Amino acid sequence: MTLHADYDPDNIFAKILRGEMPSVKVYEDETVLAFMDVFPQSEGHTLIIPKDVQACNFLDLPTEKVGAYMERVQKVARAVEKALSPDGVVVTQFNGAPAGQTVFHLHFHVIPRWSDKALSGHASGQMADIADLEAIATKIRAELA
Ligand code: AMP
Repeated sequence: MTLHADYDPDNIFAKILRGEMPSVKVYEDETVLAFMDVFPQSEGHTLIIPKDVQACNFLDLPTEKVGAYMERVQKVARAVEKALSPDGVVVTQFNGAPAGQTVFHLHFHVIPRWSDKALSGHASGQMADIADLEAIATKIRAELA
């Protein structure tokens, strides 16, 4: 059902985009907003969301917007890698609740991986300390300046 659901303009990420909810931002331009995931699966877990489009998921994104959006996803992924020097980086996204999606405004996840560290659960567990997220975001922002 959620794969083809109508876009809800009151979803959490729409509220973040409108400034109605706080976020720890790492990057913003006319196309995207990137911010720290508050339930990070690893240190540096970052989300990149498109602006000015009502897309629940990647399948909904108008084709002419894909290029600019994915350029920003790569830009943020590169900055996360430079800032944190992980052993690997997961770049992923989910379409529809059965695929694992929990927030229905399109987003890509950038999740750094270290060989000796297990991932935390997806969209679960304890909310991160905002001061810790700010410290990580500062490092990532420095690579985007
Ligand atoms: P998905 O399950 O792919 O839709 O991913 C949604 C992501 O958003 C999860 O990784 C959540 O931890 C994250 N998340 C949920 N609420 C917030 C929020 N207010 N700020 C930042 N990240 C959030």
